[in-house]
Amino acid sequence: MTSTVPRRGTNPDSKELLRATLLGDPPEYDPFTGAHLAAGEERPRSHSARAGLEAPRYCRLCGRRMVVQVRPDGWSARCSRHGELDSSMLERR
Ligand SMILES: [Zn+2]
Repeated sequence: MTSTVPRRGTNPDSKELLRATLLGDPPEYDPFTGAHLAAGEERPRSHSARAGLEAPRYCRLCGRRMVVQVRPDGWSARCSRHGELDSSMLERR
């Protein structure tokens, strides 16, 4: 079996976003507003986003807009480069 080294670029199977979220790394970009936090940018979050009721809309690693799907029992959000995040993955501890 040959091992493939993950390359930078489009990688829908990446687990980078999930890993960063589970590890609680400080986000580079605000997942709800897309503000570039690492550069000191701040944008007010909506009340429901602060309460954790909303699905994140921006990738915390690159600030790309994510493809978000909201389900009755949660949500999933996918960055084309950093992979998918699912609310059920975050609840599983
Ligand atoms: Zn990303």
